[in-house]
Amino acid sequence: MPAISEDLDRRTYLYSLLMPIMNKYVSGLGEGKAMYLLFVKAETLTNSGIPVRSVLTSYYKSPHFLHRKHDLYNNYTSPDEVILCPDSQQSMYCQLLCGLVERQHVLRLGAVFASAFLRSISFLEQHWCDLVNDIRIGKLNSNVTNTECRLAMEGFLALPNPELADELEEICGHGPWKGILGRLWPNVKYIEAVLTGTMAQYIPMLEFYSGGRIPLVCTMYASSESYFGVNLRPLCKPTDVSYTILPNMAYFEFIPLEDGLRVTDDEEVVGNDKLVSLVDVKVGCYYELVVTTFSGLYRYRVGDVLQVTGFYNRVPQFKFICRRNVILSIDTDKTNEEDLHNSVTRAKKILEDRNHILLEYTSYPDTSTVPGHYVLFWEIKSTCEGVKPLDPQLLESCCISVEESLDYIYRRCRAHDKSVGPLEIRVVEAGAFDALMDLLVSQGSSINQYKTPRCIESGLALKLLNSKVTASFFSPRDPEWTV
Ligand code: AMP
Repeated sequence: MPAISEDLDRRTYLYSLLMPIMNKYVSGLGEGKAMYLLFVKAETLTNSGIPVRSVLTSYYKSPHFLHRKHDLYNNYTSPDEVILCPDSQQSMYCQLLCGLVERQHVLRLGAVFASAFLRSISFLEQHWCDLVNDIRIGKLNSNVTNTECRLAMEGFLALPNPELADELEEICGHGPWKGILGRLWPNVKYIEAVLTGTMAQYIPMLEFYSGGRIPLVCTMYASSESYFGVNLRPLCKPTDVSYTILPNMAYFEFIPLEDGLRVTDDEEVVGNDKLVSLVDVKVGCYYELVVTTFSGLYRYRVGDVLQVTGFYNRVPQFKFICRRNVILSIDTDKTNEEDLHNSVTRAKKILEDRNHILLEYTSYPDTSTVPGHYVLFWEIKSTCEGVKPLDPQLLESCCISVEESLDYIYRRCRAHDKSVGPLEIRVVEAGAFDALMDLLVSQGSSINQYKTPRCIESGLALKLLNSKVTASFFSPRDPEWTV
């Protein structure tokens, strides 16, 4: 994505609207702090020396963020040095530590995406003993080796604090983790994160940790290409969120999706005469978003499908419906059907070299553990008589081969950010995919046009496949990924 320096002004402008909007609905937000778990991602240089980094890393490293004016409404518990730490585990450890030390002052919790927030809470579940110990003795764990982090944390652990350590130990060590967020941060008024689109899969987990009593708030809709809009009714349920487009962020146009949700193929060329302007969209209709940005993208298809839900004054408001073509996503990775198919095609050659063929496959994003991971259901057939049972090493090689062929962002999430867990292949018994077809046909799929879905959602289909699993294998290592 091209980016120019003025983009930072536009992003800052959108961010500056968020607290005034929240302030209309929640009082007292200037009287405490926000524990927002923010992280930078690894970056690289082009051959000509231009930095390539994620949009948020760019923002956190910019003067717009680092030299921001002191603002009571944007007072974070995490020092900037800790947010900028390139090691996400050390950063997470220190950010949680700051939030725990300041627990009585914390009024808001959050992260950009729900996946990162939950990953941090699960990290807390694993490391609370170390964190409590640091607070008890007033000394930072020696596993935090980053010098800037150590310096920035000195103020937080100036003196031993056994009283706070006892309180935290009581909460984390003796009570249930259901509803723990409200006990650790008793004054928290809401949790903020993107919970729409693929992130909606994390709502039940967040409700578990919040005990269902802390509002979950989605404030904004943005991408690397451009920032788009804000939620003017932030306390509505995540499933009811609509974003109001800010017309000054980019030039917005829309491809109407004629049959409701029918989404055009990637290759399909859409004539300019088909495009609808922002002022002409109709309530209830579905559109694919197209942007022309200040930094040089021209009529670029972002890949998001939106539905118009109403207007704020004369600006349209949109519900995020789905990503065009994405079937698997755990964190910032977005894998479409074609990527998955190409990866599986490469991996299945390993099976074929060893007298097995892959008859059918489908996939599922498993987020019941943190971090979540991709699951592939494979039905495998032996091509010669008397072949021995499947060799675990063979299937593990297939797991890693699939991962090695997935895109750069997936491999970065796995190998660097650790926000996606090792890919799993669940081998299912013979006939499992026939049973899946029977089930889907019984639920209304046309038998004539039946195609095995390349991704299954939760529900009966998943239950059925899981009931037919005979063995399960995980990638034995991280996929290759270089900065
Ligand atoms: P990236 O460019 O990798 O940051 O991803 C941007 C994409 O993330 C958008 O095009 C959407 O598909 C998704 N996204 C960002 N914000 C939201 C949101 N508030 N609700 C749903 N999806 C979102």
